[in-house]
Amino acid sequence: MIRPVRGVFASVVLTLALAALAGCSFQEELKVWELSGPVFGTRYHINVVLTDDQARLENLGQGITAVLEEVDASMSTWRDDSELSRFNRAPSQADWFGISPGLLQVLSASQAVSELSGGAFDITVGPIVNLWGFGPEARPETVPDDRVLAQRLAATGYQNIELRQDPPAVRTRRPQYLDLSAIAKGYGVDAVARYLSEQGVTAFLVEIGGEVRASGRKPNGDAWRLAIEEPVAERGVINRVVALERHGMATSGDYRNYYESQGQRYSHTIDPLTGKPIGHNLASVTVIAENCMLADGMATAFNVMGYEKARDLAIRENIPAYFIVRGDNGFESHYTPAFSSYLVE
Ligand code: ADP
Ligand code: MG
Repeated sequence: MIRPVRGVFASVVLTLALAALAGCSFQEELKVWELSGPVFGTRYHINVVLTDDQARLENLGQGITAVLEEVDASMSTWRDDSELSRFNRAPSQADWFGISPGLLQVLSASQAVSELSGGAFDITVGPIVNLWGFGPEARPETVPDDRVLAQRLAATGYQNIELRQDPPAVRTRRPQYLDLSAIAKGYGVDAVARYLSEQGVTAFLVEIGGEVRASGRKPNGDAWRLAIEEPVAERGVINRVVALERHGMATSGDYRNYYESQGQRYSHTIDPLTGKPIGHNLASVTVIAENCMLADGMATAFNVMGYEKARDLAIRENIPAYFIVRGDNGFESHYTPAFSSYLVE
């Protein structure tokens, strides 16, 4: 979870809070305004740099809600009426199923992340996620039977998905259940960022459940600063601080969403190659990319791969990545050369 270092988040839907106020109040003075609300089972927090114009802020707030609602209505597996859920229920997934350009974009990015990560990222793992009790199937959180697991695993695989660009459509070689939970939040962040840019807002910070996208700078000329949190259940303990100007950043870790059974910790992230929740010494990984969707997908992929494999891939592909590993003497932090320019002292 990454949050702005400064700033107190309001908990009321769409409250417009004055987050920072520099000096005296000329009409045209730029300030940082904060908008927040619930989305995708978590919350969004958005900072925009604007003059004091309540009508415009309210307008932006409504626009943001509409953008997020559209993403949710398209990609959520937690609602039956979403585009994705309708495809997941389609009587014949072997036939082309028309989809929105946004959904095609996320599916294409997912496939690219799957290929880059050698299948560590795979949006067809849904049935296995559900089997372990983390998805909308809402099973009890128990360890599944080996035979059932092997059956479900044999039936899945991102290679079964086919995409068509024009007009946008998806089909699968055998029935699949697609789950975009590991990348849709990042796309949602990008969608809000695009909306704000279109509205003429040049400086902002968009965050949904720890995934962020920055643009421009704060009114005082500083870059946006974000904290990489210590991977512990307690929130707000800072491990490192990062400055972002226009990129997306996402973190994936096993330290919050997990359950315990007979002394074992089970993460909600599944290794598609084994069908089992990941279990290794990588506590959290933070990725910076051109956009938040890719950062989100790659953070999950790296989290599945574990520290050594992920580090090797990140170095080879020149991807900025920051790893927090559980060592013998507590947490150890490592980062790739491409990450160093984002670190604040
Ligand atoms: P977080 O919300 O903690 O950032 P992620 O972005 O890693 O989590 O996404 C976790 C969700 O992604 C899981 O709840 C599950 O629905 C799905 N998922 C689990 N394992 C994988 C995987 N290997 N590839 C793609 N999606 C996955
Ligand atoms: Mg992710």
